[in-house]
Amino acid sequence: MGLLPTEPFANHYSIELMPRVTRFRGLVKPGSPFYEGRIVRIIMGLFSKSSSSVSQSDVLDALRTVIDPDIHRDVVSLGMIKDVMIDGKTVHFTFELTTPSCPIKGELERQATQAVEAVAGAGNVHVKMTARVPQGPQNSSGEILRGVKNTIAVASGKGGVGKSTVAANLAVQLARDGAKVGLLDADIYGPSIPLMFGLQNAKPAAKQVTETKVMMVPLEAEGIKIMSIGFLVDPDTAVVWRGPMASGALKQFITDVDWGELDYLIFDLPPGTGDIQLTLVQSISLTGALIVTTPQDIALADATKGIRMFEKVHVPVLGIVENMSYFICGHCGEREEIFAHGGGRTAAASFGVPFLGELPINTAIRIGSDTGHPIVATAPDSPSGKAFSEIASAMARQVSILSFAPDNQMVQIDI
Ligand code: ADP
Repeated sequence: MGLLPTEPFANHYSIELMPRVTRFRGLVKPGSPFYEGRIVRIIMGLFSKSSSSVSQSDVLDALRTVIDPDIHRDVVSLGMIKDVMIDGKTVHFTFELTTPSCPIKGELERQATQAVEAVAGAGNVHVKMTARVPQGPQNSSGEILRGVKNTIAVASGKGGVGKSTVAANLAVQLARDGAKVGLLDADIYGPSIPLMFGLQNAKPAAKQVTETKVMMVPLEAEGIKIMSIGFLVDPDTAVVWRGPMASGALKQFITDVDWGELDYLIFDLPPGTGDIQLTLVQSISLTGALIVTTPQDIALADATKGIRMFEKVHVPVLGIVENMSYFICGHCGEREEIFAHGGGRTAAASFGVPFLGELPINTAIRIGSDTGHPIVATAPDSPSGKAFSEIASAMARQVSILSFAPDNQMVQIDI
């Protein structure tokens, strides 16, 4: 693609201004409409040439007025604008977001387009929206999860609040948005991820990576990589494992699984604040934790313990999700708040952590989990599918914000 119009233009009018059109006399006769048209175009061309020289720096200056509302810096200094090209009056550039799940992608695209359209001399503006997820906190050993950019723990204070359901649907949604995603079922004592993806009888393959090292290859479903203890041992076997054995299994999933390149690796943690949680925060530098709760007081009291634990080990809490927040009657459409409502939002406010959204209690969500097809894959446009999608975006947004935080460093543990 050409850049500035100097060359074609120069050729154009230097030929046209040749004395008396001698070279083209046969083709363009003075007085003919074609001749008049040529002359008018030459004059217009001369004028437009002087006013249409949009430069890269004009474009970048205009884009500096677009401010990322979360990071409070302009998108040029954040390195989000790439490949500015000017072709005549048409301006092309790439806008590289920090997550493909960006909830304000449309708004940023609109602002950027308008800013460049306002540059004197600019005509059409073509923006290519892309995303590259930034690297989260590095692990102390560069060998651990080497290709994984961000690690996110999905936790809950108690069981049965829908933590695995949320982890599975968020993972699939992030992948549907365009990210590379893995899901590690760290609920060693009660793995439910194989069921949620219809992988009950699946077994991971082994891969010889060096002469002495063999790694497990994660299974794949719905566009994500998955590993669970349920693929390796009978679910009844792990239930009786002592803490060190369960922790050992988790460590192996971190070190001996070939996760490859991932933008987000989601850990579905067991409920509570036990050995597995501690093993995880001691083994890797988690990017952040997501807390799932139901609206009732008891679930919230347990969730509170979870938040305190992550705070104590300096893992940022990405936010709280309230599951089973309300029920929409399939017959009359009326909304019922079976387990009360709003507790998650209140808890988030009192801890000063983001509230990421509410999910309805819905038979289709339960059926999706029980039949191996998360609802975000089967009914993405349903109210529940959209609720998951919004929460995935809100979570990815928090991860992006953290990646620009000045203290985005290794997790330190002082227990
Ligand atoms: P946890 O991981 O917290 O123990 P699960 O994700 O296994 O909880 O969910 C427990 C049960 O509740 C599962 O049968 C699941 O399908 C169901 N469930 C979870 N969230 C919802 C929801 N929003 N609506 C309907 N059923 C749900």
